[in-house]
Formats: sequence, C-alpha cells, structure tokens
Amino acid sequence: MAIPAAFEVGEQCPACFHRLAVGLFEWHRPCPRCSYEGSTLRVDIDVHGGAEVVDETLREEGLEHLRQRNFQQLEAELAARVPSTGHPRPTLLDVGCAHGWFLQASSAHFQGTGIEPDARVAAAAAARGVDVRKGFFPDVLGSGERFDVIVFNDVLEHIPDVGAALRACHQHLRPGGWVVVNAPARTGVLYRISRWIARLGMPASFNRMWQQGFPSPHVHYLDDASIGAIAAHAGLRVAAISSLPSISSHGLYARIRADRSVSFVKAAGVTVILTLAGPLMRFLPADIKVWWLQAER
Ligand SMILES: [Zn+2]
Repeated sequence: MAIPAAFEVGEQCPACFHRLAVGLFEWHRPCPRCSYEGSTLRVDIDVHGGAEVVDETLREEGLEHLRQRNFQQLEAELAARVPSTGHPRPTLLDVGCAHGWFLQASSAHFQGTGIEPDARVAAAAAARGVDVRKGFFPDVLGSGERFDVIVFNDVLEHIPDVGAALRACHQHLRPGGWVVVNAPARTGVLYRISRWIARLGMPASFNRMWQQGFPSPHVHYLDDASIGAIAAHAGLRVAAISSLPSISSHGLYARIRADRSVSFVKAAGVTVILTLAGPLMRFLPADIKVWWLQAER
C-alpha cells in the first residue's frame, strides 16, 4: 500500500491510513478500522539542556535491576541472530540511547553508536565513554551510514511519525539488517486492565500508561498487526516476536491506590482483582514486546 501524500501524523493511522477516531479521552486516538491506538500527546524533550528536569536516575533507580536483566536477555537474543566473527564487530545503532546502558551491555559483541536528543543525558553518556551523538534520528546520520542493527529500547512509542522512522531505518540498514523494537504492547494485560478501569471512571492508570503529562509521553500503543503493517510500508518484515518481563506490574497497583479520585469501593474491588491476578500475570499476554524487523537480503 502506498503512503498517502497528505498523511497527517496523529490524525491518520500509520498502519492502515484510515482517519483516527477520538477514543476514551480527547487526546486518545484509536483506529476505527484496525487495532492501532495512538495519541495526540506530544514530546517536549530538553534538547538544549537548560531546563531543570526530574532526576531520571533517581526516579528509575528501582527499575535498574530489571532493566539490566532485560537488556542482557535482549543482547543474548540479538547476538544469536547477528553472528560476529570479531573483526570487525557488527555495527549497532541505539536510537534514544539515554545513559548508554544497552550500548554497554552489548559492547562485547557489537560496535555501538548511540543517538540521544536530551542534551544533559547525552553529555552524561559521553562522559561515561559511550559513542553518542546528540540530536534526533536520522538527522545526525550521514546519508551513506549503514548499520547491521538499529535498536529502539522504549523509544519508538515516543516518536510521532513512526512510519518515517522505520523508513529511515530501512535506508540506514545493511541488506538483511535488523530493527529491534522493544515497546509496551497494546495487547498487554496491564494496558487492557488500565483501559477497562478507565472506562469505569478511573483514568489515572490509563493516563500513566500513556505517560500523559510527562515530558515524553507515549504516542503509540502497537501490537503484532499494527507494527507489521507499519514495517511493511517501510520495506521491513516482522521476522520474530518475543517478550520481556514487565517493569510496571507493581506500578499499576500503586497508581490505582495513589489516585485520590477513586472511591474506596472501586479501589478495593480493583485491588482484590489485581491481587488475585498477580500470580497469573506471567501466564497472561506480555506487556513488553520485542518485534524483530528485518530488511530484505
Ligand atoms: Zn488503522
């Protein structure tokens, strides 16, 4: 399917190009024709480093352990798919590399380069010896630069023009190269529960799932079908799908309890359901999926 000339980011479905509808809230944009869900929430990244920002290291300290474990798992899967003879190592581009944790976790196998738009975060990564370029993907790449792997770790769901981002990946990949998209899934149990309780009049968890009010909110909730369609428009195919343990299952519970607009009866009901569901979580649809997209050889 050709991309319509008048494609409007945030108003048209990037998977099937149908006009998006207004969903549960004024900013929520589900597609009436396919399974894609988007938002009109917009990113406000500190590109110049002048603003006082939340201390991300402090905020995410509790997630550090699980994040490192997920990165190790991801690196092992990636190394199995992209063998290395050692000289030279395969090249990897980490889009939105933040502090460079994944680049460091994968440095034994891959020669990594990061791109990070937040000036302070990019400076911190560079100070730790990470090869990082400050700016946006793909603007900071040379037109002829090609990589074996391009990774989006919790990044693609923040990029408004997801179609353009994947087309740029295709342009900067070697033949047979991989795009690794690690993102929250629309089909995940936490997203479904949050949407369900938002319909019951408790929007806090749903808002938090979209990171509404954060400097970098979510613009998309993708699933196997929608990422498959968006990838196909960019000349990429979904070659494999895996999942990672969720980093937010405890967070959802806490967020429900923290929402002061929730009545005691509602909060108690949802809390009981979630407490009973807790041990079942790992058998339920994954909240974080990894879509392995491959360019033609
Ligand atoms: Zn659609």
